[in-house]
Amino acid sequence: MIFENATILTMNPKREIIERGAIVVEGKKIVAIGKQDEITTKYPHLSRINCNGNLILPGLIDTHVHLAQCILRGLTDDKKFELMEWLTGRIFPLLGNMTPEDGLASSSLCVLEMLKSGTTGFIEVLLTEHYGFEGIAQMIETSGIRAALGKVVMDMDPAIRDEIKMHPKMWETRQVSIENTLKMYDRWNGAADGRIQVWFGARTAGEWNRPDMYDEISKLAKERNMGITIHFAETPGDVAYAKSQGFRSPTEFAMAHGILGPRTVLAHYIHSDAEDWKLLVQTGTTVSHNPGSNQREPWGPALVARMLKAGVNVSMGCDAAVANNAMDMVRDLRVALHATRVFEKDQAAMSPETALELATINGAKAMGIEDQVGSLEPGKKADFIIIDLDKPHLQPVWNPVATLVLSALGSDVDTVVIDGKIIMQGRKVLTMDEEAILANIRERKARLAEKAGVKIRLQWPVL
Ligand SMILES: [Zn+2]
Repeated sequence: MIFENATILTMNPKREIIERGAIVVEGKKIVAIGKQDEITTKYPHLSRINCNGNLILPGLIDTHVHLAQCILRGLTDDKKFELMEWLTGRIFPLLGNMTPEDGLASSSLCVLEMLKSGTTGFIEVLLTEHYGFEGIAQMIETSGIRAALGKVVMDMDPAIRDEIKMHPKMWETRQVSIENTLKMYDRWNGAADGRIQVWFGARTAGEWNRPDMYDEISKLAKERNMGITIHFAETPGDVAYAKSQGFRSPTEFAMAHGILGPRTVLAHYIHSDAEDWKLLVQTGTTVSHNPGSNQREPWGPALVARMLKAGVNVSMGCDAAVANNAMDMVRDLRVALHATRVFEKDQAAMSPETALELATINGAKAMGIEDQVGSLEPGKKADFIIIDLDKPHLQPVWNPVATLVLSALGSDVDTVVIDGKIIMQGRKVLTMDEEAILANIRERKARLAEKAGVKIRLQWPVL
């Protein structure tokens, strides 16, 4: 099949942009890409899809997602919360009361939203057993998206669990959490023709976890070439904890406990400096920059421009819908760019081109699949999206990268192709039942709020 008559942002090593371009897809792969005239002459017998002069680019990769928290979107925007109040008063009771059916409903909504806004691959950070890992993995398989599913591992004393009012259903012993992760790894890693990976989703280093758990999971992960993802160096408390353990910084704690490496993704990663970045570069560790939630929460910006300059692989993630409200990577390209420019007080601190690298090729590297996706090149998997440019807010196009990063939204994605298969066309997702997913989430949201006894009071009177 040929996708023709498009402007193509290849994101190949030369970052070539092809005007009046075409892509030839056979099976799961791209077999040729180039100027339309040459391609159609070379492949005269293949069927063609006319892209109407629209923009094709690699599918976006979201490296920090909480599938189960999509059901909580907008739940904590009614007042200012301290972190523990936010967790114990709102988040824990709701997440703890979720059934596997609720977990599946929230995850389906999240995947649907990601597909509809051009995300073709993602890393989930903290799935627990009670969200129903099995049902979620099956849904991922049929949806057609690419995913690294981080299954939670933790080592929290039950006394601490009770003190912080974590719902018992969210808690697993260290042994059980590790055993269940490995069971899921054996069952699902490499499934769906390699679209699904299973990772360790480690709970944050801090007083809630015994530090030697990280030594154990690092060893197990290395034996299997398995990924690890973790919220890391996000709050001042994370820094204080590393110091209390005798380390200069959270990054040095991570280095000592074996967490750093080419299969590790550190989310948020706000509190760090040049000495830390040397360790990330040396070990090939990736950062997931979460500009949407970092802008919302009070812990400050990540030093993205400086990390990139130091050679760190920085990718991008939307985080949870309860901390960023939309899983829209196209929107967050702009948030990343603006936040960095404001923080550095420098318009050159981040270009649209750099923002797009975070969300494509750098994200592919984070998932350990940069040889397969993240750019459009012959031999790579056909994972790409088409942006409909025929809209007032996207015309005229002087610079297609700037149009995408600074003017477009996820709702401008018209078509999604993953593994050579058309997953969305004309904004209709062909692998999921959108109407049923939306009806289900409305019903489950009401039921869950009642069961958990959580009520929110809006600032304005509700009649
Ligand atoms: Zn998160």
